[in-house]
Amino acid sequence: MFAKLIIDIANSNVDRLFTYAVPDELDVRAGHRVLVPFGRSNKPKEGFVIEVCPEYDTGFEVKSVIKTMEPYTALLPDQIELAKWISKAYHCTLCDALRLMLPSQLRGSRVKEKTVRTVCAAPGIDREKVRSTFLKKDGTARSPKQLEVFDLLFDSGTSMSVEDLSAYIPNASAAVSALLKKGCIVEKDFVTFRSPFANEIKPDVPPELTKAQLSALEAVKNGREGDVFLLHGVTGSGKTEVYLNAIKAVLEAGGGAIVLVPEISLTPQTTDRFRSRFGETVAVMHSHLSMGERYDEWRRIRLGKARVVVGARSAVFAPVENLKLIIIDEEHEPSYRSESTPTYSTDEVAVRRVRLTGGKLILGSATPQLISYLRAKQGAYKLLELPERINGIPMPEVEIVDMRSEFMSGNTSIFSKDLERKLKDCIGGGEQAILFLNRRGYSYHGECRACGFVFKCPHCDVAMTYHKFDGSLRCHYCGYSVRVPSVCPSCGSKYIKFSGIGTQQVEEQLKKLIPGVRCLRMDTDTTGGKTSHRDILDSFTRGEADVLIGTQMVAKGLDIPGVTLVGVVFADASLFHSDYRSGERTFQLLTQVAGRAGRAVKDGEVKKGKVVVQTNAPNHRAVLLSAQHNYKGFFDLEIKDRLRTLFPPFAVFARALFECANENAAAEYAERFAKEAETELKKVLSKYDAEGELLFVSYGAAPIRKRDNLYRYAVMLKLARTKHTSEAVTALWRLSDGFDAEGLRGVEINPNELL
Ligand code: ADP
Ligand code: ZN
Ligand code: ZN
Repeated sequence: MFAKLIIDIANSNVDRLFTYAVPDELDVRAGHRVLVPFGRSNKPKEGFVIEVCPEYDTGFEVKSVIKTMEPYTALLPDQIELAKWISKAYHCTLCDALRLMLPSQLRGSRVKEKTVRTVCAAPGIDREKVRSTFLKKDGTARSPKQLEVFDLLFDSGTSMSVEDLSAYIPNASAAVSALLKKGCIVEKDFVTFRSPFANEIKPDVPPELTKAQLSALEAVKNGREGDVFLLHGVTGSGKTEVYLNAIKAVLEAGGGAIVLVPEISLTPQTTDRFRSRFGETVAVMHSHLSMGERYDEWRRIRLGKARVVVGARSAVFAPVENLKLIIIDEEHEPSYRSESTPTYSTDEVAVRRVRLTGGKLILGSATPQLISYLRAKQGAYKLLELPERINGIPMPEVEIVDMRSEFMSGNTSIFSKDLERKLKDCIGGGEQAILFLNRRGYSYHGECRACGFVFKCPHCDVAMTYHKFDGSLRCHYCGYSVRVPSVCPSCGSKYIKFSGIGTQQVEEQLKKLIPGVRCLRMDTDTTGGKTSHRDILDSFTRGEADVLIGTQMVAKGLDIPGVTLVGVVFADASLFHSDYRSGERTFQLLTQVAGRAGRAVKDGEVKKGKVVVQTNAPNHRAVLLSAQHNYKGFFDLEIKDRLRTLFPPFAVFARALFECANENAAAEYAERFAKEAETELKKVLSKYDAEGELLFVSYGAAPIRKRDNLYRYAVMLKLARTKHTSEAVTALWRLSDGFDAEGLRGVEINPNELL
């Protein structure tokens, strides 16, 4: 037999199949990891077996596989196919794609299996003979504890760790040693799994499903293999309960399931909900596990001991056999996009994977991505709706405050009079408030405080970003730039401001407003550690502060019973982020905030929560329609604009980023790439008379022009999305292969961030 394999080296030069002979005594199948001699020096390297074949006929002599790394195949057949697809779809080496499927601890054998020492009665031992050696003439036992231990092990017929034994017979270790010496019992090493779960969990009682939940569940059950469902349900509508029931059906049919949630919401509460329904068969996968835990959870899944995986983005690759269901909860979350090579989108990968395994995919959200909802409307996905909250709990009331008139009436504080009054009432009444800062990244947009005018790119209709280093405003898409004028072009006022309020600033102002107020802050500065995000929320839940101030992160922790007021300090910071999705993102965030605030419980009573949204754009559809909880209205308007301005999903952006120590070199390479890309794409598209589908090519300094002593220049291309797009993208990638030596960091399609 011969094995064709990919060597586990992330270098495109060796990213092809190498053939090795399989010695007769080895059992090697596709999916096995093996050790092979590699290169001229025959250094042992690990490799992934992609296929095995009985013959090999090039006439060259081949080397032989040394050994298999694990007794089982580390990769499932569908994972190998998925990796092949990923390497094509996201232009990475097959090795990089395969590595996604395995815990890094497995490679290079960096983590050992954990074993416990157990003991059992020696095989074939004669019980009466042993007993007789212990009995004294008067019928009492010599060393009664040893006899007791022996009897227990003999009767149970299994092996036990000394620790477990001690639960029955205290302080048994001396007796165990003595029995071992006498040969009455023997030792056995037993492989166990490190558990990431700190707590025991009780089974829960599943509620009876509502009509809406039932019909969604039925639709999923009756769906076909490879079907994708979009579960559009407002917050608190019982989506999770639909997931739980869909998983139950899959388990009963002998299948397995993967549930993906945003990393930040992978709290013990989330995993407990699945564990209390499904018990031991639940495994978790996320970045806060220790090396050993991660490796063991992976093995528990691979060996079929766990059939439900709850995890963050990368758990979409979990080795679940007979995978019949993938669920992506909060499918609109940007964190489902991988930021490092390969820059995959989790939903795209999941669609492909369920097709390979004959499973189904559920995308769930209160605010689906526009593209997902569009696909549902066009029939590619099946739309399931949960329009109401469980138990008839009303959606919270949202009040919009126009900060321009606040400013014009002389209030220059970051708090409107209305929010100030509500904050004082809330805290004075012993209740809690959350102040939410809708801020993204580092970027600042220019805005007039008097009239709300925002500097936008005349070509792209997105807000321009302020660049401190040269006092310019720039468009991240087409590269257009202007100097910041000294007065507002719209109203002539000189109060142009570059918004960028931080949580610290909010805290300072709040303390001036309400002396003695107890604040907690949550942002990337305060949540560096492993559990601090949770710690802050826990402390707040215990009532150790009156106000929690934070960025996006607090939006996920809003289910805090004492909270009766949520203030969105400045909704516009993400609204005019220089990103064509800023309206969509803002709508999602505000809906999430508004949807979660109305669950306050005080003195055992549900108290209707209040939400105050401060904005300079009170009539912006993202602000207005999120306050009305009107997703469909938002979708209809937004998708029309995307079509009118030709932005995704109707167009595709490709961005090539160059990083060089020498600024001129970076600029030069970007320029060369831009020119060659334009020529190349026009050539490809002209075959179809479609040169016009290349909408523009631009290049210039990246928003963060210098990082880690490297100068960064980017090329941005925009293509209309048509049936020629994938051929055009392939041509771009082909071109990019020739720029590796020039500091090209890759070509990203529809990147999340343009920094
Ligand atoms: P979502 O995931 O849409 O935010 P959840 O599934 O978390 O909603 O449900 C919100 C709350 O309603 C939870 O506390 C859940 O236990 C409860 N719940 C869900 N379905 C039902 C039901 N059919 N009957 C009673 N309570 C339910
Ligand atoms: Zn103005
Ligand atoms: Zn532009």
